[in-house]
Amino acid sequence: MIDFHCHIDLYERPAAIVEECERRGLHVLSVTTTPSAWRGTSALAADAKGILTALGLHPQLAHQRKGELPLFDQLLPNARFVGEIGLDGAPGFRPYLEDQLRVFRHILLACKDSGGKIMTLHSRRAATMVLDELEAHAGAGTPILHWFSGSMKELSRAIELGCWFSVGPVMLASDKGREIASRMPRDRVLTESDGPFARIGEGPAYPWDAASAVSPLAEIWNLTPDDVQQQLGDNLRTLVTVRHF
Ligand code: MN
Repeated sequence: MIDFHCHIDLYERPAAIVEECERRGLHVLSVTTTPSAWRGTSALAADAKGILTALGLHPQLAHQRKGELPLFDQLLPNARFVGEIGLDGAPGFRPYLEDQLRVFRHILLACKDSGGKIMTLHSRRAATMVLDELEAHAGAGTPILHWFSGSMKELSRAIELGCWFSVGPVMLASDKGREIASRMPRDRVLTESDGPFARIGEGPAYPWDAASAVSPLAEIWNLTPDDVQQQLGDNLRTLVTVRHF
């Protein structure tokens, strides 16, 4: 089972989440929203072999945390995975697009200079801008668009640019989400929870809730749930052995 985009450090009891992920044998990409969260979040998973930690600077925090870019650069050599990064064009964050772009471009350049990273990307209401930046910074690594919600045209362009995708149960609960997922190349799809931001019922989504994406994917791909698990496992192995490493 795979949760390739989860904010473990933002749960009320992160250590208990780590323990439960280990108990269930989950493969988790634990993303961070600020460079200053990196050390503590990495330490949480120091003894958890199924949990990888990504170095990030969330676009919604870019205007407040742009001063942490030197720290980002300092930590980047230790990080094989980068995220959460990207752009957010929703009304509440559009006023800070200039800062967001400056931070995102800096990070893409740094990733490129370091030979490429696996990156998990936020692109809400900003898919075209995110794709423009990825195209302009070829060599930054392998982008994974998390919870993609752009247009079909933007999706086609993302596929052409070599993007991967992570999809979760909340995304796949909507007709639009399923329609988008059905057009993704199935050998470039991983599952995610985006917890605790994503909510399921009354509470936060947990990393193991990413498993609830398997059944809708089985329907979309016309496969058995076991075959979906097999496909997702193959995808993860392919991703982490891509040439950038
Ligand atoms: Mn997220």
